[in-house]
Amino acid sequence: MANMAAGEPPYAGQALSDSLFPILQHPNAIKINAQLPNIPNSLPTEKVQYADLLKGPKHQQPNEVAPIPIKHIQYVEGVPRITWTEEEVDRMNVTENLQFAVIGKFSYGWPELDDLRVQIPKQLQIKGECNIGFLRNRHILIRLNRMDDFVNIMSKNSYYIIDKNGYVFQMRLLIYDTKFKPDEETTQAMAWIYFPHLLPTFYGKEVLFSLALAVGKPVQLDSATINKTRSSCARVKVQVDLLAKLPEWVEIAVVSPGSARIEQIKIQYDFLPKYCRTCMLQGHNEGECRVIHPELKQEKAQEDQEEGGVRLKRLSSWIGLEKNMVNRLQIPRGQQW
Ligand SMILES: [Zn+2]
Repeated sequence: MANMAAGEPPYAGQALSDSLFPILQHPNAIKINAQLPNIPNSLPTEKVQYADLLKGPKHQQPNEVAPIPIKHIQYVEGVPRITWTEEEVDRMNVTENLQFAVIGKFSYGWPELDDLRVQIPKQLQIKGECNIGFLRNRHILIRLNRMDDFVNIMSKNSYYIIDKNGYVFQMRLLIYDTKFKPDEETTQAMAWIYFPHLLPTFYGKEVLFSLALAVGKPVQLDSATINKTRSSCARVKVQVDLLAKLPEWVEIAVVSPGSARIEQIKIQYDFLPKYCRTCMLQGHNEGECRVIHPELKQEKAQEDQEEGGVRLKRLSSWIGLEKNMVNRLQIPRGQQW
């Protein structure tokens, strides 16, 4: 992006639309259209309460977005093709109630779907509506209608779901996007970013969200930032593209007639999930990849043998299982839904 080359954050000064919550499209991402749609060109004039934002689209019904027109078919080398814009696909996500959708991935067995519909809202403490359906082998689609539920459950990548019989199943959560493929995990993830030493003048939500747009799509401030109880560093949760080149600095330009002062603001990242482009999976990078480095397999097998018992014990105490339930931990392989 030309404006990135000039050192200007691509979307600074623009407010994120909280009504459409479009899929993140970072300017540096591979194969991704470099437009973040539906961002108005000015800050909202109407004061938006943060609490209202977190309540999600309560008053926003799916049919409030402009309908998608019926398209004409074009033929490209004899093959019929329908073309939609990224903005139209974002509108489809709203219409289909997929703005706050996440994918649950069960790699090692899974409970019955009817049981998941009971257990997931309860165990993940979902406050709003939660529609759960089968998506693909080993994957379920969880549609939420509240942004706070989405942000809360995505604060962890992995959960242990206990089914009605007391069996425990690991479920990993991935952000739903329209490029979903069952054998390729999304490159989208949540991360906390910090602006250390940012002056308290710049702690307003719109200001911090503007700064955070240099990294990805801002979704939340932490409570110390909202309550102004920590003036040493502002913290924003951002949806990022793990394959994007994430900036270390963002510049603030304060202009007055005839002059401008520019300050560089450091961006620090909390834990960022790793992503392997070879396996197309989150959780490890190319340096740790056992497909690229088969010698790591042997080391891992030995480690697993040594640590297996310890990890099982830790898991059982973490989820509060009684001793006799540890034997019921199920990790069946190859089971098909
Ligand atoms: Zn790999």
